[in-house]
Amino acid sequence: MPPDSSRPHIAVCPGSYDPITKGHVDIISRASEIFDELIVAVVNASVRKNSALFGAEERVGFIEDATRHLGNVRVDTFDVLIVDYARKVGATAIVKGLRAISDFEYELEMNQLNRHLADDIESVYLMASPQYSFLSSSGVKEIATFGGDVSDLVGDEVARRLKEALAR
Ligand code: ADP
Repeated sequence: MPPDSSRPHIAVCPGSYDPITKGHVDIISRASEIFDELIVAVVNASVRKNSALFGAEERVGFIEDATRHLGNVRVDTFDVLIVDYARKVGATAIVKGLRAISDFEYELEMNQLNRHLADDIESVYLMASPQYSFLSSSGVKEIATFGGDVSDLVGDEVARRLKEALAR
C-alpha cells in the first residue's frame, strides 16, 4: 500500500552514540532529507553488558549540538524495544547506517527479529560514506585512550571531553 500522504513520515535512528561521530552525523543528515521528521534515539539501558563512557544526558547534548542545523531532527532516549519505542512516537521506519560486512551480519539478525515483533515497521539502511566506513565510537575511544588525535572524527566538544575522560 502506498504511504498515507496526509500524515508525516517519522523515522527513528537508534544507537548508543557513545559518543556521536561524524559518521553518525552523516547518516542522520542524509536520513533527515528522506523523512519529514527524524528522531535520534539514544539507548539508555542499564541492561547492556558494556556500560557507556558518557551518561545518556551528555550523549544527548553532543547529538543536539551536532544536529542543531537540521530543522527536522530531534533527540530522545529510550530504554524499551526499539519497535515499541518507534510505535510510541508514531514512526514507521527505523534507519540504520551500514559500514563493513560485519555490520551487515548483525543488522540482518536484528532485522529478522524486529520484523518478527513488528512487521508494520520497516528498517531502512543507508550505506556509510566511504570516508566514514571504518569510523566507530569504539574506535574513537580507543584512539583517545592512547592520546591520538580524533579531531577529524568527532566534533570539537566531543574531542575535548574524550581527552578529559580517557587520556592517560
Ligand atoms: P557504533 O557502532 O559506532 O558504536 P552505534 O551503536 O551508536 O555506533 O550505532 C548507531 C547506528 O549508526 C548503527 O546503525 C551504526 O551502524 C551506525 N553507524 C555508526 N558509525 C557509522 C559510520 N561511521 N557510518 C555509518 N553508519 C554508522
